[in-house]
Order: sequence, then structure tokens, then C-alpha cells
Amino acid sequence: MRYASRARRVVATSTLAAVGLAISVLVARDVRADAPPDESALLARLPAFDVHAHVPPFWSSEGFWHRPLEPARQRARMPRRCRTTGGYREHCSGPRLVPEPSGAPAALARHLGLGTHETAMQILGPSGPFEIWREAARDLDADPHLTYPVPSGHDGRGFGYVRGGALRHVRHDGLDIQATRGSEIVAARGGLVAYADNGISGMGNLLVILHEGGDSTAYAHCERILAQPGQLVRRGEVVARVGDTGFARAPHLHFEWREHGRNRDPRRALLPRR
Ligand SMILES: [Zn+2]
Repeated sequence: MRYASRARRVVATSTLAAVGLAISVLVARDVRADAPPDESALLARLPAFDVHAHVPPFWSSEGFWHRPLEPARQRARMPRRCRTTGGYREHCSGPRLVPEPSGAPAALARHLGLGTHETAMQILGPSGPFEIWREAARDLDADPHLTYPVPSGHDGRGFGYVRGGALRHVRHDGLDIQATRGSEIVAARGGLVAYADNGISGMGNLLVILHEGGDSTAYAHCERILAQPGQLVRRGEVVARVGDTGFARAPHLHFEWREHGRNRDPRRALLPRR
């Protein structure tokens, strides 16, 4: 009799323990669903990728994509420090204010070949991001709509053949958003930072974020960039500040959106502002 009651106690205790374990597993699962994204998990899951083995070697050269950006006769309207000999503005891309790579994001960037000149060229070019980068950006933010990237800004020059004069045949590949210098720039959609540097002529301090489905957003002319390559960012997170580095006459954000790797008018995807 005494033995049977002890057995019942043991069964009851172990049942309670099992229920407790099940609850804690459920709670842990909930916590994981809400946990911030983790660069270390991506590093462990994805194979290493050598970007240099997959892009044309001449992309690495200093001179590539340093194409003329503005006719000489428009020089007078640019800031004095940007006037250059030869008629084109080539020396106004700085100052380079980008974060020093560190921690898990830096390790992930090295692992996946993010943060290099070639990375930006590939994503901004016609082929779009490599498959391994698409995989890395999967499940980060499923909503394809874009949050307006400068909360305090307003629309300037639009997308398309909107310029006159010598540049009338050159498409403006993004939306200009005017704002005061130093205004916050937020990630238009959650994603993986692919590039955060100063190496693409005309763009100044440039941030490129990869999103699910091969989409990407680019943020040019930044005064400074606050996110580093390999970093996972959430929609609405402050990632840079408005400036006039690169080809810009006044502080503004030049904002580009690529859908499945193709350059599109960002206004087609922007959410209504609150
Ligand atoms: Zn622009």
C-alpha cells in the first residue's frame, strides 16, 4: 500500500515535470519567434562564398564606374569644394563616414563576400544579388512594401527621365527625398546590409540592404552610415543620416529600389506615411 502511494507520487511528480517542460519549450519557441535576428545563426547555416571568383575581375579596378556624372557647364551650381579640373565632379564623395566592421556582422560579411566594391556592383547591376545572398536575406521581412526612409523628409526629384539638358537621356534611378543634413534615415524594409561604404563614384557614402526575394534598397549621399555589412536590420531602424556626399548639390537621400534585381520607381512600393 505504502509502495503504491509512493508510485502514484512519482507518477504525479513526473507528469508535472513533463507538463512544465512542455510549457517551457512552448515559451522558448515564442521567445525565439520574437528574438532579434541573429548573424551568428546565418554564419553557421550558410556556406562560405568568394565574391571575387564570381564577378568580372575589372570590377575591382579603381577606375570602373567612375563615369562622368555632370556636364561641365553645370559646375558653377555646385559647392566650391567640388569643382574639379576636367569638367566633371570626381572628388566630392567624402568624407567617408562608415562604421568599423566588428563582431558577428563582420564575420558574416567576410563569410558571404559582403561589403566589397564587387558586392555593390553586383547588386546594383542587371544580374542582381547572387543566390547565396538571396538565401541569406530569406525570412527577414516578408512584407514587400517599403516604409518611407526619411521620416522628416519630403519627395524631391522622381524616378525616370526627369532631368533636362545634357542628362535628359540618363534615367534617374531613384527617388530623391529632401531633408535637412543629419536627418535620420531608416531601413525601408527589414534585411541584410550588403554594402556600407564610399567606393561607388557619385553615390558618396552608400548603404545597400538586401531583402527577401532578391529585392534591395540603396541609400546614397549619406552624411554617415550607422550599419555595417553583414548586419541584420529591422524595418524602421535608423541606419544612416542625410548628407550631400557624392554627386549632390544639397543634402538629400537618393533612394533606389530593386524588385527581383530590377530597378523600379520606389513610389510604387512605398507605404502611405503616418
Ligand atoms: Zn537622385
